[in-house]
Amino acid sequence: MQRTFAIIKPDAVAAGHQGGILAALQESGLRLVAIKALRLSTAQAEGFYAVHSARPFFRSLVTFMTEGPVVAMVLEGEDAIARWRGLMGPTDATKAGKETLRGRYGTSIERNATHGSDAPETAAYEIGFFFSGLELAGL
Ligand code: ADP
Ligand code: MG
Repeated sequence: MQRTFAIIKPDAVAAGHQGGILAALQESGLRLVAIKALRLSTAQAEGFYAVHSARPFFRSLVTFMTEGPVVAMVLEGEDAIARWRGLMGPTDATKAGKETLRGRYGTSIERNATHGSDAPETAAYEIGFFFSGLELAGL
């Protein structure tokens, strides 16, 4: 069993795509361990994406991620990290197939509807960034 961290990004929340994304998640067989809606502060978005702080798109990414509420989730299942990334599709939504979440709900390389952890270490860090032990203990 593996856990991963996922976000429905502000573009997808604003467009009302939470339902479609949650339906795809349920269909995938991944288990929803925890879920909450929140709006990131600039400092929180900078911290979450600190690994990208030297990239040219960093400021724009932080502005995007703070423009409205997001839905943060912890997902669990066998090979959950790779399965969720497979469901999302590639980073660039304009190159993602329509069978993927980013292909269906994203509109650009930045505004790509969803986030997913890329490795067990980042999943652990990202889950801890958004959720307390108490919020993860019940389900
Ligand atoms: P992923 O989310 O697929 O793991 P990255 O970790 O490389 O992709 O990038 C984090 C996020 O930064 C992406 O999901 C996207 O929103 C944004 N991003 C990545 N590359 C670019 C880019 N070249 N221009 C603008 N935004 C980008
Ligand atoms: Mg990444």
